[in-house]
Amino acid sequence: MSNNTLEYWQTKAAQTAIPANAWINGKPAPALSGKTRSCINPATGKVLAEVAECQPEDGDLAVNIARDTFNSGVWSNMAPGERKKILVRWAELIEANLEEIAILETLDAGKPISDTTSVDVPSAINTIRWTAEAIDKVYGEIAPTAPGTLALIERLPLGVVLAIVPWNFPLSTTAWKLAPSLAAGNSVILKPDPKTPLTALKLAELATEAGLPDGVLNVLPGDGLPLGQHLSLHPDIDGQTFTGSTAVGKLLMQYSGQSNLKRTFLELGGKSANIVFADADLDKAALWAAVAGFYNCGQTCTAGTRLLVQDSIYDEFLEKVAEYAKGWQPGNPLDPNTSMGAVIDQRQIDTIQKYVGIGEEEGAELLFGGEAVDGLGGELTGCYHQPTLFKGARNDMTIAQEEIFGPVVSAIPFTDADDAIRIANDSKYGLAGGVWSQNINTALKVANGVRTGTMGVNNYFGGDITVPFGGFGESGNGRDKSLHALNDYTELKTTWIEY
Ligand code: NAD
Repeated sequence: MSNNTLEYWQTKAAQTAIPANAWINGKPAPALSGKTRSCINPATGKVLAEVAECQPEDGDLAVNIARDTFNSGVWSNMAPGERKKILVRWAELIEANLEEIAILETLDAGKPISDTTSVDVPSAINTIRWTAEAIDKVYGEIAPTAPGTLALIERLPLGVVLAIVPWNFPLSTTAWKLAPSLAAGNSVILKPDPKTPLTALKLAELATEAGLPDGVLNVLPGDGLPLGQHLSLHPDIDGQTFTGSTAVGKLLMQYSGQSNLKRTFLELGGKSANIVFADADLDKAALWAAVAGFYNCGQTCTAGTRLLVQDSIYDEFLEKVAEYAKGWQPGNPLDPNTSMGAVIDQRQIDTIQKYVGIGEEEGAELLFGGEAVDGLGGELTGCYHQPTLFKGARNDMTIAQEEIFGPVVSAIPFTDADDAIRIANDSKYGLAGGVWSQNINTALKVANGVRTGTMGVNNYFGGDITVPFGGFGESGNGRDKSLHALNDYTELKTTWIEY
């Protein structure tokens, strides 16, 4: 059967085993309390599995195991070239199981199978393989000290690292955290979001199969409260890395201060500006305005949710965006022709709907969309939302300042480059962005002027594993991907020698 049919993926999904236990010390483990939580398929509302719901006592157990494993040196003192071999083997196993992992991510998060097979799983494989390949090529330094002295500067693993990840890109964010933290020699506790634990659990199983020593990677499904908070306050965790909301990121900083000043690196929310000038390739810019707003149902930290359009082309350009938005209608995530899958849950639908209401009350005009979609027929009784665009938005409106995390774009007019930069920077966030112009002076002036972690020039969502990813301001302080990510998982150590 060809893998470009719905039937193929439905058949495979029915045959896919759903992991339901935590992964502690190289083995599957139920929660010590026996507690479980229903893991729901957002496309159908059906229960996929009753997954272990870990509590603080499971956290304490895992931290002790991770600490002992770190201290034993079985991983932390392994030669980088040997760690590389195991991590490369892990990437190969993920590749060999690509379809199964893609199905788990699609069932768990409502993402289209065309995305999980072409983006989420391949990018996780690439992240792990690239970082593994790099780790035995990273050198320390010798400082330029006086004769008779020799100063060695090395990067040492932090120790026990806590990684907390969200539900919107469960697998990608897991790989972004695990690849550099493990490559650097740390032991890790990963807490996935309780809504989307499945691919992290599968990855842990494959890591053990690849030869990762027991206890180096522990995956504990469980809620932010009490488990995430308990781990973040834990005095025996040396560093924490987080992707999620700005509100929870601020809490993690506080937990660090209240406990042991564990190193804290955060990838948080965004309200990114996608800026279109009259001299741009307007068809390409409109196509990407739709992608930037509606990819992953807009549940994307880097989404281009503020669409800044030069006033001379404002109406004409938004009509083009409306045309391209027709390609972004909700569909069955298992159908390979679906571009937009399900929204994660009813709570998120309610949030999106609340913001749509606020946008209308504050005077923006709905150009298209605005409605939740009440199921798609048959067993697809889950959560869906129309792609939505507000015309006549102003940057001081709530819909332009707050992260909605749904397929909702606010189109704001601007006059010239200075005006566009001013509007783009009038945000507490600074995660991503894009500028579209055929004039290199305009494009580079704006790209340079917008204070954001990643800026696309005549593209949106650009980037790969070779470049760092992270935010300015309330979008966070850490950097995932590239060799820069290793900084978040290592301490600098000086050895000063006199001779
Ligand atoms: P969230 O902050 O509520 O949850 C994220 C994770 O934090 C989950 O695992 C959750 O269980 C845990 N958590 C919640 N409360 C906690 C607490 N008190 N202590 C410890 N852990 C706790 O995030 P969300 O709203 O579910 O996810 C979406 C958010 O993630 C958006 O704001 C989005 O922009 C952001 N995000 C950022 C990036 C990035 O790289 N910058 C990438 C993806 C998502």
